[in-house]
Amino acid sequence: MTARYELHGPVAVITLDNPPVNGLGHATRIAIAQGLNQANADPAVRAIVITGAGKAFSGGADIREFGKPAALAEPNLLSVILACEHSAKPIVAAVHSVVMGGGLELALGCHYRIAAPGCSVALPEVKLGLIPGAGGTQRLPRVLGVEAALNMIVKGDPLRSEVLAQLPGQRLFDRMADSPQTLLPQALALAQEVADVRPLPLVRHLPCKHPQADAYFQFARNTVKAMARNLPAPLKCVDAVEIATRSSFEEGMSREREMFINLMWTPQSRALRHLFAAERAAAKIADVPDDTTKRDIAQVAIIGAGTMGGGIAMNFLNAGIPVKLLEMKQDALDRGVATLRKNYEAQVKKGKLKAEKYEERMALLSTTLSYPDIAQADLVIEAVFEEIGVKEQVFRELDRVCKAGAILASNTSTLDVNAIAGFTQRPQDVIGMHFFSPANVMKLLEVVRGEKTGKDVLATVMAVSKKIKKTAVVSGVCDGFIGNRMIEQYARQAGFLLDEGCTPAQVDKAVEKFGFAMGPFRMGDLAGNDIGWAIRKRRYAEKPGMRYSRTADLLCELGRFGQKTGAGWYDYQAGQRDAIVSPVVLDMLDKHRASLGIKPRKIGDTEIVERLVFSLVNEAAHLLEEGIAARASDVDMVYITGYGFPFWRGGPMLYADSLGLFNVVHAMHRFAKNPLDDAAFWQPAPLLARLVAEGKTFNNA
Ligand code: NAD
Repeated sequence: MTARYELHGPVAVITLDNPPVNGLGHATRIAIAQGLNQANADPAVRAIVITGAGKAFSGGADIREFGKPAALAEPNLLSVILACEHSAKPIVAAVHSVVMGGGLELALGCHYRIAAPGCSVALPEVKLGLIPGAGGTQRLPRVLGVEAALNMIVKGDPLRSEVLAQLPGQRLFDRMADSPQTLLPQALALAQEVADVRPLPLVRHLPCKHPQADAYFQFARNTVKAMARNLPAPLKCVDAVEIATRSSFEEGMSREREMFINLMWTPQSRALRHLFAAERAAAKIADVPDDTTKRDIAQVAIIGAGTMGGGIAMNFLNAGIPVKLLEMKQDALDRGVATLRKNYEAQVKKGKLKAEKYEERMALLSTTLSYPDIAQADLVIEAVFEEIGVKEQVFRELDRVCKAGAILASNTSTLDVNAIAGFTQRPQDVIGMHFFSPANVMKLLEVVRGEKTGKDVLATVMAVSKKIKKTAVVSGVCDGFIGNRMIEQYARQAGFLLDEGCTPAQVDKAVEKFGFAMGPFRMGDLAGNDIGWAIRKRRYAEKPGMRYSRTADLLCELGRFGQKTGAGWYDYQAGQRDAIVSPVVLDMLDKHRASLGIKPRKIGDTEIVERLVFSLVNEAAHLLEEGIAARASDVDMVYITGYGFPFWRGGPMLYADSLGLFNVVHAMHRFAKNPLDDAAFWQPAPLLARLVAEGKTFNNA
């Protein structure tokens, strides 16, 4: 049973019991409805309490039912809430810990509510591209006031029960319990106290008005529009709450339902629900069970205090884990620590970090120039120069000094993690932890599983990632892992587009209009074009058959490395980041095309976006086929959290699915016919071809 029924004297207690968060799945809804019937039929029962077992009152809809018919099967949540309202005997909702979404809507359908302190209360549907669909938009404004309710609905963030209980005039909680432990006895006492009250109070009967509705809703719409471009749900939240103030409750309920169902079908909601599931899926590794014993990570050492080392250190300091930074020379160490301090101080200045927290974090940091000092570290992360010889030196030294059982991780972007593991006598303890720059900000962490990486090492690193608030995605070993191997194809296409007639600004604008945070050329200028140049030089030797546009090399030969040199694909004014179209670059491109005898052609935004995005998709299909990426949704997580792909499109793979893979492949065949492109690359990856033949999608393979 997913809800228990018990008698406490004259009070029937229905306890939701559907771990982990008492999701209101079909079985639970049936059990609640049955409990209500039983209580109403029993003459000995005078009142009813609904509460939740374990870690929540209820977290809302059961995510296992998402998008499945069970979610709507009767009794659906609306019917259960109606049954509460119709109960002839008073119902007290006794809420604690987590009251979210459908859980809060259920409580709002009860006659009385008592809350434990410390409870997280939210209507988070907007985060999935939806509005609350079981009366939340109509009932919450009636108990909290229009503005407080709309803020909660449009943001979706949890507020504490004791904070809500302080709002003037609130009717959300009739009473606050003294503590979570006394919640049930106090709820039972309240139930007995109100047993004879008639008529029973219903939230739907409370008034819902705003004294300056026109001005307020206008203001709310303007604010929301500015905050949530590309997302329809937040504006619908405003609409729904406005309707609550202007129409009857019944009318409001039916309009809420209509909007909810319509939003469910929007690509944005599909994308957000996909990412919600994708994030959870990424944490699961097929052959590494959840209960795999993990190693203890109490002390971390980081080798190299450069751009990455310092940022990586901050993640651990923020999580309260002591870090020892190791460098070759004192001045490098001093520079690293100074940068780290500067980053924290900027946060303090902006009011994002309290001064005493900053001190606490810095107190966890220590430095050394000597390897024996890190012998006791549980996890060592190497972030030294990207040269295999330097990595070899470092890993041989780590193997010599580190205690048995220490995890040895490399932050390499392009080097072979198996080869690095081979520099040690303990390859099972070696793993890749590929952070993205700036490492203290970017959510993505590619966890690179070497051939010999131990399962417990992998499980430990996944758990650590969670502790430092990263989105970890497992990648197999290959050049570039998931993200950078895909971006290479994207960059190649960007180069071909220049060869054929585009300007950097035209490509960037098309991609940014599609929703990327930054187009490829602005990105190159930010990251430094010399980095790609160095990688390409290596690739020219390793993959002589691979065709590249010469444009990026020509740019670097002019010394135009990007923002750091004041000139790249664009010009920059000193101290500013605005990209200004560069006549020098346009001239360089003209001459380049002329030297190849290319007559530039006009290329539309659609072709630009399709070539760039489909190049990601085709390469990802190869990665899936090769087992480098475990699932299409992992690729989507990588691109959303690490590469600025528009989150409201759900990632490249979901985007391809939504276009229809048949159409994607059709476009690839078209691109293959372009003599200035790479016909071999545009052969659809075998997985892609197979999915099309079977009428399937990446996310439903
Ligand atoms: P960096 O040049 O800024 O820093 C490297 C640091 O390592 C320097 O401070 C250097 O003094 C130190 N170092 C070199 N050899 C050492 C040794 N033997 N012992 C101790 N310290 C040593 O480089 P970075 O950008 O921080 O990159 C470091 C690693 O992270 C590379 O493997 C790189 O590929 C990878 N990475 C970089 C980025 C990025 O955007 N910069 C992103 C992801 C991964």
